[in-house]
Amino acid sequence: MPVSGRAYEKYGGNTTCVQIETARNEILILDAGTGIRELGNHLLQESRMRVHLLLTHFHWDHIQGFPFFKPAYRKDVQINVYGKAPKGMSLQSCLEDIVAPPHFPIPPSALKANIEYHPADKVAFEIGGTVITPVPLNHPNGGSGYKIEEENQSFVFLTDNELGVSHPSGLDFQGYINFIQNADLLIHDAEYMPDEYQNKKGWGHSTVDDAVRLALEADVKQLGLFHHNQDRTDAAVDALVQHAWKQAQSPSLACFGVQQGMEIEL
Ligand SMILES: [Zn+2]
Ligand SMILES: [Zn+2]
Repeated sequence: MPVSGRAYEKYGGNTTCVQIETARNEILILDAGTGIRELGNHLLQESRMRVHLLLTHFHWDHIQGFPFFKPAYRKDVQINVYGKAPKGMSLQSCLEDIVAPPHFPIPPSALKANIEYHPADKVAFEIGGTVITPVPLNHPNGGSGYKIEEENQSFVFLTDNELGVSHPSGLDFQGYINFIQNADLLIHDAEYMPDEYQNKKGWGHSTVDDAVRLALEADVKQLGLFHHNQDRTDAAVDALVQHAWKQAQSPSLACFGVQQGMEIEL
């Protein structure tokens, strides 16, 4: 959940939202957590009227910013939404039902943007020359991670992915190694320290140790540790990152804690 206060100034308090600017200047957005509010304001300031929103899944922390994404209320905005709805549900209702009473005072009809929904499941697709490949998450209620590739660079976004146990829709450890292989950047769930994980098995998140092991075995160049627990203060995330460095002990893997506002160029 979102957090605020002095203990969270370094890593930030918003929930999941990552912006990608592609080589051909398309805007991709990964998830609509609370970070999308500020991103929406920025996009309008820059007059960016077309975005592609890739959703990993529909747990609160990944969609709760959407009602506050101002571009969605503008007639001159195009939003292409990609993702995989749980069986028997539509992508549209999974996202838009939160912009409705009793959760929200404004009805979905106020969403004036041209919003198009594209179910995405395992098959790769292209956005302006950038290739996107979804992969099933090992997570309660399922979902998708994404590999994003262009000009021989690859970025894999895998959050809410539990490497320690198996869920019905997920891959096994080797399956994720194969998918990630040689990525230039991997952002992976590293919510738990090993001692915390014992009581949280099956909740859908990974230990930092498992995330590091995956990155090493897949020969990833950079690993961003992600999905910080709401109770983990800046000092505690720093300690988690140091623990990751000790586990990695490899000069070929750069390992860091993902921070709000951070920019990475590939
Ligand atoms: Zn989740
Ligand atoms: Zn989450």
